Amino acid sequence: MSNLTNSLKDSLHGKLVIPTDADYDAVRKVYNGMIDKRPAMIAQCADITDVVTCVNFARENSILLAVRGGGHNAGGLGVADDALVIDLSAMKEISIDKISKTVKVQGGCLLKEMDAATHEVGMTVPAGIFGTTGVAGLTLGGGLGYLTRQFGLSIDNFLEAEVVLANGQVVKASAKENSDLFWALRGGGGNFGVVVSFVFKLQPAHTIYGGPMLWDISDTKEILTWYHKFISSAPDNVYGFFATLTVPPFPPFPEHLHLKKMCGIVWCYTGDMDKAEEIFKPIRAVKTPALDFVGPMPVPVLQTLFDGLYPPGLQWYWKADYVKDLPEEAINIHVKYGNELPTALSSMHMYPVNGFASRIGKNDTAWNYRDANYAVVIVGIDADPANKNKIIKWARDYWDEHHPYSAGGAYINFMMDEGEDRIKATYGDNYKKLAEIKAKYDPNNLFSVNQNIQPQRAAAMA
Ligand SMILES: Cc1cc2nc3c(=O)[nH]c(=O)nc-3n(C[C@H](O)[C@H](O)[C@H](O)COP(=O)(O)OP(=O)(O)OC[C@H]3O[C@@H](n4cnc5c(N)ncnc54)[C@H](O)[C@@H]3O)c2cc1C
Repeated sequence: MSNLTNSLKDSLHGKLVIPTDADYDAVRKVYNGMIDKRPAMIAQCADITDVVTCVNFARENSILLAVRGGGHNAGGLGVADDALVIDLSAMKEISIDKISKTVKVQGGCLLKEMDAATHEVGMTVPAGIFGTTGVAGLTLGGGLGYLTRQFGLSIDNFLEAEVVLANGQVVKASAKENSDLFWALRGGGGNFGVVVSFVFKLQPAHTIYGGPMLWDISDTKEILTWYHKFISSAPDNVYGFFATLTVPPFPPFPEHLHLKKMCGIVWCYTGDMDKAEEIFKPIRAVKTPALDFVGPMPVPVLQTLFDGLYPPGLQWYWKADYVKDLPEEAINIHVKYGNELPTALSSMHMYPVNGFASRIGKNDTAWNYRDANYAVVIVGIDADPANKNKIIKWARDYWDEHHPYSAGGAYINFMMDEGEDRIKATYGDNYKKLAEIKAKYDPNNLFSVNQNIQPQRAAAMA
């Protein structure tokens, strides 16, 4: 171990893992098994002081810095070759303030941990659909899920951040303090510093009526056409995302459906539970579903419903787009590629981002696609690395055909490492302001392992 590494190890309260340690291979792994990066050091930070120490160490010694929240990032941007990784997974404090109806969550928390804590007081934070995802990365990219139509994105419920900046300073960011930084954190990803804690507004959702409803894949055109019309004008408290998928070959799925390709909608109704059956009557009447697992359930159950089907370490290849409209040509593409799902775990999800989320201004936060109706994600997934090329080809071919019908950019949290043009397309007219804020808070791009925004001073961009 070099003197430099030793000096960092000695100054941390948490543990520093290096390549010669027995647990190095386990610790360097991220959720996506396609990512195989070998960092120089992984600092399992115990507190804010450790984070400051690591930021200063990386800057002073010109070492590439990566930051890891839940390790779920599509492109594996929580780890990098030869980098010092700030791993926040040991920083999991959660504190709820019942009076102000807020929750403060440290940067290493997973969604399921936050959900379990807030559920105890009958509340929730709008976030994603898998409990194993990190609160930090999900929120900094936007955060979309079952409550998007009723309460907005995670960033629309994000009130305050505590951030370690590139110069090692610890600052607060909110509507009142460092408001430019706060604007950028709401969608701008990990570009601006290490967010050690988040304060969120709590929303009243305890028990919902939801779950998956599936139809045969041959019904995709009919169901998707109906779904688009329905969700475009549905009340905010009715949410459903559309998917093409393959039924898993084990209980509770009925045996006659095992390994059948299907289309489906995963619902979440948050209104009056007494009215739920009535609201879903016309939905069920559109076409009798082949599988109907929709019913009342606590929010944390819905939010973790699919966790077990997707254990860490699978190969994932992601392609994404925002979509405003859904013409017949685009629907036909979903029919075609839904029929050609390359493996049993691969799927396409179409998440609505209308309702409450679309009533926030395009320039009010860094998240620019307030006028989109859906965030579409095409994911080739398989346990076997031998199928890597097959899932990549399906996802790329699907995306190539679909992209002309998209709005241009994609949700940064659903993108692999796809280059600057895709990032610019995603931020649209917010990119210039993001680049200026980056130049103010991180002028030398210390935080570069992310969907990177190049620092650019206002004068240089004129
Ligand atoms: C199975 C699965 C389901 C998903 N479902 C949803 C969903 O329903 N809704 C949704 O919106 N997204 C979803 N996503 C996408 C998810 O939002 C992104 O993968 C996100 O980046 C994950 O955050 P993380 O903290 O787990 O990731 P990490 O890999 O740890 O980090 C992701 C990025 O954020 C940066 N970062 C992480 N923590 C911090 C921090 N504290 N401060 C500064 N920068 C930080 C990292 O540097 C990196 O660039 C899903 C992903 C997976 C794999």
